[in-house]
Amino acid sequence: MFRKFSFSVLLLLSGVSAFSQNDKPSANGRDGNQRTGRRGPRNYEVNIVNSSAAPLDSATKKELNEVFFKVYPAFAQADGYRTVRQAKLEISDNYEGSISAKAGEIIISSKWLKDNRKRLEKEMMYQFSKNWLSADTVKKKGYQLVFISKDPGLDPQLKQNLIDTYFKVYPKLVKTFNKKSTKEVLFVIDTAYGGVAEASGNRILFSAKYMKAHNTDIDVVTHETMHIVQGYGYGSGPVWLTEGIADWVRYRYGVDNIGSKWALPEFNEKQSYKNSYRITARFFEWLEQNVKPGLIAALDDQLRQHTYTEQSWAKFTGKTVDELWADYAKSPDVKLAYSGSAK
Ligand SMILES: [Zn+2]
Repeated sequence: MFRKFSFSVLLLLSGVSAFSQNDKPSANGRDGNQRTGRRGPRNYEVNIVNSSAAPLDSATKKELNEVFFKVYPAFAQADGYRTVRQAKLEISDNYEGSISAKAGEIIISSKWLKDNRKRLEKEMMYQFSKNWLSADTVKKKGYQLVFISKDPGLDPQLKQNLIDTYFKVYPKLVKTFNKKSTKEVLFVIDTAYGGVAEASGNRILFSAKYMKAHNTDIDVVTHETMHIVQGYGYGSGPVWLTEGIADWVRYRYGVDNIGSKWALPEFNEKQSYKNSYRITARFFEWLEQNVKPGLIAALDDQLRQHTYTEQSWAKFTGKTVDELWADYAKSPDVKLAYSGSAK
């Protein structure tokens, strides 16, 4: 069962791994990616080492190389935060099994390889997938979620809640903001990741530790999947704007902000719209209610088209963002209604 399952998951990942080639610039704080900042294209390298007695002909070498590049990037994308990009692939007379495959290290039995050349790709995929505790593919109404857990202690109810939130929220966000957004998303519950969660390409990494300690915070899914929908790419708009939009979307479309005690903080004089996240999100809600409904979706669209500039604010509202903030500071009242139910 598991064997068959893993194949389909990995085959699917190979199909979508191109998405991860351009990591979206991520965020501070909640997304925990500030140390690495923007990352370049993902490069993988393989070093083929023959430690068996028989020489390795060039056709075999070429095939090993090809199979590696079919399998490893898909595995690495799903494997999470600290995956090794340089791998050693060793052909050995001493390895008893078929293939041993983990991040950065592949050992292939020379004896097995001789008789199983045709099974090389599938066997390598299977052996890599054994690094995970579970891999599920869930499909609903044209949308798909691959859910990989590397955490043996993952609460099944939390897992179900994360999956349910994806299917409740993501299709709505796609329809509202970006119909061209991918319909295939990958969630990875990662034990090696120290932030909260982060989105890159079509993958969302969740910190196993954070989610365990904050198991009501399921609208992390709403914030992070909005980053997939945003898909602005490199150099489009400031980070505070990207994050402010994602938290405003969490406010508007989140499923249980009450249950997680998530709220937009009251205005105070020390704030700035550049504070990002919830402070910016509250300002955006005020703008939607008092200045121009639909403004945030319009800005989001410009960011995606790479037509956003500082002048966009004046174009849509007649005022600069600083003028709008000054108006907000004078009269910051806003009507707020949160989703979810108190527990
Ligand atoms: Zn974010």
